[in-house]
Parts: sequence; C-alpha cells; structure tokens
Amino acid sequence: MHELSIAQGVVDICQQHAGGRRVLAVTLEIGTLSGVVPEALEFCFEASTNGTILEGARLEIDRVAARGYCRACDLLSPIDSYFDPCTACGASPLEVRCGEELRVKELEVE
Ligand SMILES: [Zn+2]
Repeated sequence: MHELSIAQGVVDICQQHAGGRRVLAVTLEIGTLSGVVPEALEFCFEASTNGTILEGARLEIDRVAARGYCRACDLLSPIDSYFDPCTACGASPLEVRCGEELRVKELEVE
C-alpha cells in the first residue's frame, strides 16, 4: 500500500530529527493532488509507529488546497485535478503551483 510506505518514511524522518526524544505529535502537510488518502495514512501511521519513539503520537494533517496558474490571465485558480481549467478564461491545463505537498511540517517532542 502506497500510504504504508509514506507512513514509514514519515517515521524515519521523525526519528532522525527527534534526537532520541519521544515524539508527541507530528503535523503533515498534504496537498489535495498528492494522491494520499488521509484516512489510510492515519491508519498506517498508527501501525508504523508501534514500538518506536513515535508510539502514541498524535498525527495532524494539514490539507493544502491545489491551485493552478494561468499564464494568459496571470491568475491562480483553485483546482481539484490536474485538468481543471482557469476560472477566468477556461484554459487548461494550468501550471500546478501548490497541492502536491507531502512533507513533515512540524514535530512536537517531549
Ligand atoms: Zn486564464
């Protein structure tokens, strides 16, 4: 499962940065175009943290809304997919400017 390898990657990153301290909470930034299903990730996170310094840590997910840039209008439009058009002129595809995020934003340690 895709989310399982992501969860394990998150655990690895947190372990590297926590300096052996217990991790209380992790905040992830996940774009709506990243293809990650938050519920699945939460489930995998719990499984991946068992027996690590992250065991019992709270997982918080910040969803980042995707936006596409239209060169012709010099405008950013909210988009739900890579093929959504510019809200002003209807051009598509737009240059994706955000929404593909998948990163550890914050780490709360003991
Ligand atoms: Zn446009």
